[in-house]
Amino acid sequence: MGLRPPHQPPPPPTHPPSPYSQPSHAQQHPDLAGPQGGSGPAGYPGHYRPPSMDYTGAPHPQGMGPSPVPGMEAANQLPMLSEVDLSIASDPRFMRFTVSKIPNSQNNAAATKLPLGVVIQPMALDASGQDSIDVVNFGATGIVRCKKCRTYINPFVSWHDAGRRWRCNVCGTLNDVSSSYFNHLDEHGQRRDKHERPELSNGSVELVAPGEYMVRPPQPPVYLFVVDVSYSSVASGLLARTVETIKKNLDALPGDPRTQFGLVTFDSTVHFYHFKPSLKMPQVLVVPDISELFLPLPEDMLVNLKESREVIDLLLESLPEMYEKTRNMDSALGPALTGAYRVMAPVGGKMCVVLASMPTLGDGRLKPREELRALGTEREHAMLNPEESWYRTKAVEFSRVQISVDLFCVAPAGQQTPFMDLASLTALSKFTGGNLFYYPGFAMEKDGRKLEEEMGRILTRPTGFEAVMRVRATRGLKVTQFYGNYYIRGTDLLALPNCSSESVFGVEMAHDEAFLTASVICVQAALLHTTSSGERRIRVHTVAAPVTAVLQEVIASVDVDTLCNLMAKRMLEVALKTGLDAARHRLTQLCADLLRSCRAFSTHQPQGRASGYQQQQQQQPAGIPSTLELLPLYTMAMTKNVAFRGGTDIRPDLRTYMMQLFSVMNVATSRAFIHPNLFALHTMGNEAGLPVPPSKDSSTDEAPTAGRQKIRLPVAVNLSGERFVSEGIYLLENGISLYLWVGARADPRQLAALFGGMTSVEGADGGVLAQLFEEGKEEGDYARRVHAIVQALREERSLRWLQVQVVKEGDAGLEASSLYRNLVEDRAAFSGGQYNYAEFMGMVSRGGGGGMPGGMGGGGTRGGWRDGRRTSAWNGIPSTLKCYEMTIEEIKGSQGKE
Ligand SMILES: [Zn+2]
Repeated sequence: MGLRPPHQPPPPPTHPPSPYSQPSHAQQHPDLAGPQGGSGPAGYPGHYRPPSMDYTGAPHPQGMGPSPVPGMEAANQLPMLSEVDLSIASDPRFMRFTVSKIPNSQNNAAATKLPLGVVIQPMALDASGQDSIDVVNFGATGIVRCKKCRTYINPFVSWHDAGRRWRCNVCGTLNDVSSSYFNHLDEHGQRRDKHERPELSNGSVELVAPGEYMVRPPQPPVYLFVVDVSYSSVASGLLARTVETIKKNLDALPGDPRTQFGLVTFDSTVHFYHFKPSLKMPQVLVVPDISELFLPLPEDMLVNLKESREVIDLLLESLPEMYEKTRNMDSALGPALTGAYRVMAPVGGKMCVVLASMPTLGDGRLKPREELRALGTEREHAMLNPEESWYRTKAVEFSRVQISVDLFCVAPAGQQTPFMDLASLTALSKFTGGNLFYYPGFAMEKDGRKLEEEMGRILTRPTGFEAVMRVRATRGLKVTQFYGNYYIRGTDLLALPNCSSESVFGVEMAHDEAFLTASVICVQAALLHTTSSGERRIRVHTVAAPVTAVLQEVIASVDVDTLCNLMAKRMLEVALKTGLDAARHRLTQLCADLLRSCRAFSTHQPQGRASGYQQQQQQQPAGIPSTLELLPLYTMAMTKNVAFRGGTDIRPDLRTYMMQLFSVMNVATSRAFIHPNLFALHTMGNEAGLPVPPSKDSSTDEAPTAGRQKIRLPVAVNLSGERFVSEGIYLLENGISLYLWVGARADPRQLAALFGGMTSVEGADGGVLAQLFEEGKEEGDYARRVHAIVQALREERSLRWLQVQVVKEGDAGLEASSLYRNLVEDRAAFSGGQYNYAEFMGMVSRGGGGGMPGGMGGGGTRGGWRDGRRTSAWNGIPSTLKCYEMTIEEIKGSQGKE
């Protein structure tokens, strides 16, 4: 993505005539605009040079930046290391660096090959699931920001002239302190009131935005549902479950009493619903001519939830019945989206789209282009790219009017999971800051709860509306790439119609100057948003990292989990552009390069690890820096991850979904997604599954815990099939799913505890066992502790609800193969994946991705997919009417006639 064109400052804010009228791109959010007079991508003046000194001509390759010349303080020198309190830590849940010490020069950065960047989750919840952050109201003082680059005041600025001026830690400008914000400095040059002011003592704060930060009144939270009512939606039970989930969450929708509600349904036609509070019964407006969507009164279709609650309840009650006899197989999703857009465009908000088949009619109809023979070949990645650009174009329009799309794609179970073309559809959520959900082989008894939990979560979680985010970095470093779901405006403003507690963004950075003049690098992410209660807020996260010329220090500061998160996000783009093979090769090569270069600068200092990695460490050649010890393992795991792996058994929709998930994953979840947790439940200690006693000092207790109650997890074992013994029961967690593996000779008492009293699982269906497990009827210590572990893991992972799937020893179904894909330390069956951990270590240590050992031939066909062409009718819609109104009874009566 081109991020370097010269930046034009936006025009001054204008005041639109009516509430909620949509501002144009350039008018929106002038407050987050880049600096006056030009900006690099990180919001600092890219082509800016201090007026009196040319720092680039006076490099300090060995030092920590230029020394101050007494009496000749440069106008735009950056705060010195000695002036910055680096003890102030931001909660890493918000922002994490790949390295916590920054190489001082371009050459040094290139020598280590370490990707520089941060992973940001601006609205992350704390360990107890709360949205806790200090809120600051500057009141009459106004928000304190750098006059030049617009950086928000933060703990890493320096104070001068006895507190009358502060120096910006991003661009170096000296700013005056207004009299109302003035305070004296202490003997260390820090403000005396520092600890009373969260913005000076905490890396993360939320600022109350005054009027000039609004170009229209803050929008109310709007929830508009676009729901498929065609045959596959009705027959699979999806419609009924969706309606039930909406009903269940209506009271919990944020923003009461301003929350607005709307509903559009579709099959081969599009149906709108009037919810005027004065109506006794809701009115249905059917629009059969999807080529010319006629929408008379959009204002009655988006209503205040509280005022129209009765009529909304009435409709939701009747909706499943209205369509229960339908035989309509078609899906006019595109026209429904166009209609929904017209309803929402004046305000914006969250659009929640539920569909049960590939769109077949009207704008945005898709083709059954899945070609299973192309899997594992060079043609595979074409299916991972959109064929139809309609959804991307629409998404950009949506983003402009502050609509975010959460897309629930449900492929009902059948002989073969139907193809939906997620690669084309996903643009809808990707460019609007939304989420994609996918339920392949959907069966209500198996997947209904997952759908309900996930939909309920996106409806009720903390959400910021009409948001934009800008990332700034200290002069000398520039943003080179963003990852995540957003649309970029100008050069560096991320437009996020919605931003939620789960939204995650990767930011890659690079040196913009041969030598850094800064001794501390700061990165500041500022998210301007409207809270669901209608307050305009700016959430500001600032992290600081010292600059060093000593590369050992840089290498010793690597956060391998953040590094892998960013590496994966970068390689996902490679996979889409040039193919999965190329992405895997690049990953392996990057790992080998990193090890080679870092080994040259580092001395090996082995550190003990309490988990099950000791055996692996012994396999490692001496000389790998301790911070990178796990990099080869994680890299190999990524090449075998469902997002990147080769072979012919990952269908394009599933692959697209997994790639999309990876691209929006936070570091804690990606750690498990890359290298899952495998626990032996049959031999777990007596303390596993119990909360760590509060009396015990948790800092000295090495046992990993999870969840709000700090449930102690069992010891993790290696991810190898060799670990599975027939007497065993194992739990595998990979950040998005849970698997229970049950051995053929597992202890009957343990089986009975987990599966509703069954002492043998022979012949039992995995789906039935999973249900029995979820019901959790059995009492007793063992059952309670296993359920506590499952619950704790669910609390840790909020990206997706962790559904338990049960796989018995010897099973060969879809669940079994998706479980076994997680055993990344074993040889995989695809070409290029046939190495185990020891062999991979040898390969990357030799420095390359070539010469794979243990050739086992090309990837064989597994799963035996048949060509999945749809057979649904593609008939046009014979109708001369533009639209007509029907009662609920008439709708019921008209179904089943086609
Ligand atoms: Zn500045």
